[in-house]
Amino acid sequence: MLSRILRLINGKIALSFSYQTEDIVALDLALKAGAKDIEIFALDTLKHFRECLEYHKAVESFYGVKIKRYKPNRSSLDGLEQKLGEFGMRESLENRRECCHIRKVEPLGRALRGKAAWITGLRAAQSATRSAIQIVEFDEKYALFKINPIASWSEREVFDYIARNNLPINSLYNRGFRSVGCAPCTRAVQEGEDIRAGRWWWENPEHKECGLHIK
Ligand code: SF4
Repeated sequence: MLSRILRLINGKIALSFSYQTEDIVALDLALKAGAKDIEIFALDTLKHFRECLEYHKAVESFYGVKIKRYKPNRSSLDGLEQKLGEFGMRESLENRRECCHIRKVEPLGRALRGKAAWITGLRAAQSATRSAIQIVEFDEKYALFKINPIASWSEREVFDYIARNNLPINSLYNRGFRSVGCAPCTRAVQEGEDIRAGRWWWENPEHKECGLHIK
């Protein structure tokens, strides 16, 4: 199905890689679907866990691909660091959204510029904010097709696919993490907690998006 969809895309295709189990599945499916000419990119927020940086290199070696890094704009970052310090993003929703905007949303805009389609590892079951996603959508904000090949998959199916195909996994998942983001804003979760409970754990569930996937 993914190869049929990709054949219909007329233009450059990007795939976002954010060090999560879903992303390695989406990447594997895209490469097996014959999407050779895609730009694989990561948003380098400069707040990643060391494990994510190691995983970045491991995935590049595993597939023999380059994962392009998009960093925050330096002048915006200087002002943000002055204002928030190390953990000021936890002090208010406004601070957190400003940090996500500078470190993620603005660089994402640069990564998607000129692209006709964007492949993601989003799943509808991940959170209330993602429950309505489709396998193919048109993203008005970035004016491109957004392709979510594992939109209907469960977390179990993701891990089964990884095991069956011997794909590399971010070592944080061996330490109780079930969703991975920036270090100051992500923690491991306890048995029985929601899979996104460790992301921005101080916020209400309806706010738990960084702005990358909001139309
Ligand atoms: S997840 Fe946290 S550290 Fe990362 S960009 Fe958002 S607020 Fe900043």
